[in-house]
Amino acid sequence: MNLDPNRKFWNPERETMSRDQLRDHQFKELQKQLKYNYENGLFYKRKYDNAGIQPGDVETWDDFYRIPTMTKDEQRAAQEESLERFNHPYGMLACAPEEKFVRISSTSGTTGQPTLYTLTKHDVNVNRQLHARKLWISGAPPGLRVLHAMALSMFTGGVPVIDAMMEYGLCVIPVGAEAGVARVLQFVDLCKPHLLACTPSFAEYIIEKCPEILGKPASELGLLAIGGGGEPGLGIKSVKNRIAKGFGVRAPGDGIGGTHNFHGYTCGVDHDKGMHLVSEDYCILELLDPVTKESMELKDGAIGEMCYTYIDWEGTPLMRYRLNDILEVTTSPCECGDPRLRFRIIGRADDMLIVKGVNVYPAAFKNSISKFAPRVSGDFRILLDAPPPSVKPPLKMQIELGKELTPDEIETLNKEIRADMHGDLRVTPAIEFVPPNTFEKSTHKGKVFIKLYEEKPADEDIAEIHPLKQK
Ligand SMILES: [Zn+2]
Repeated sequence: MNLDPNRKFWNPERETMSRDQLRDHQFKELQKQLKYNYENGLFYKRKYDNAGIQPGDVETWDDFYRIPTMTKDEQRAAQEESLERFNHPYGMLACAPEEKFVRISSTSGTTGQPTLYTLTKHDVNVNRQLHARKLWISGAPPGLRVLHAMALSMFTGGVPVIDAMMEYGLCVIPVGAEAGVARVLQFVDLCKPHLLACTPSFAEYIIEKCPEILGKPASELGLLAIGGGGEPGLGIKSVKNRIAKGFGVRAPGDGIGGTHNFHGYTCGVDHDKGMHLVSEDYCILELLDPVTKESMELKDGAIGEMCYTYIDWEGTPLMRYRLNDILEVTTSPCECGDPRLRFRIIGRADDMLIVKGVNVYPAAFKNSISKFAPRVSGDFRILLDAPPPSVKPPLKMQIELGKELTPDEIETLNKEIRADMHGDLRVTPAIEFVPPNTFEKSTHKGKVFIKLYEEKPADEDIAEIHPLKQK
């Protein structure tokens, strides 16, 4: 491989296209893909036929937006239909013949039957290229050693990423998160990797455990950089700063994208604006209005439900696939010179609340609250009297304190948080503060909503939920 170490992009021709060039490229590929899907996928043929659309009918973007979107439930149903009809899960959705599959991946969802993604050699090569683009802009040139401490599975951060790192030219030490923190640290100490790839929560755990296990702080491990992903933690400034300080590295990079076509990476300029989307030549991103589900213009500051379509893809080419994630996009130029749009995931579409006509997501409250650490722990709950999304104001919220505060200090904190939320989110909640360590800590996605309308807690439960009221 002959790389110019000074070049800014892995594939400059593709990665520096103007918006107009990119849209032209996307549309040409889209027309080919629509025809391919119709001719090779029973699921898609039925979908187009039901909508009264033939692939040749799609001559404008508006024509494309008339094709109904698809959801994960639909994907799962198609898989089940396939099992019934063909006795294997591929017949309805996969558009390539079985003998061309070289990898089958799945999402890491824990409920229901796993949804499968089939990749051909072509798809794996595209996937490797997208990972290479991210590794290149992360500033990790081929030749470095990376200790991989994400889950070593078929899921997003596992085998597909390791495969792509090796193809790119990194030397991978695939220890995996499953090995546990002691084993990971033992191999870091022995193999002297330059880079560490892990989730932000595991990075924080390593920092905590390193002195006990190796007798020295994580900042003395000699790591040059930390690459994260798999969880939203690195989008939170305080988490990012703690990890950078703990390992003595510059701001850790945050990435998204495993075995599919939606890949992004932070450039390090303005973390608040999220990641550059590095794969738009293989993945058409749409934002849908969270209520009407109409396709929205991708303009600066637009917020909507994420929906994507794979182009130049053979295996399981998802089309107008809705992910239930809410994205905010920034199209204004980034200081780093990367022309591609930036995005950040601000919540789940299911979690949207509407307060006085304003759409808000729990993640936005979390960002606001975490600014007030260490006075707060960062943990909070939203109390709902009625099913979402509409909330009768004021929005009720419990916020966990990070340490004991006097009533005056709590009052000051209350004013500051309410002012911050009013300024940033245009929502002013009614806040109740609860003592440190009130909420159960979970390593999984925390439960944010307390649905008072679902189960009316008994009197003693309310006392437990509202411990400060007793004082
Ligand atoms: Zn940038």
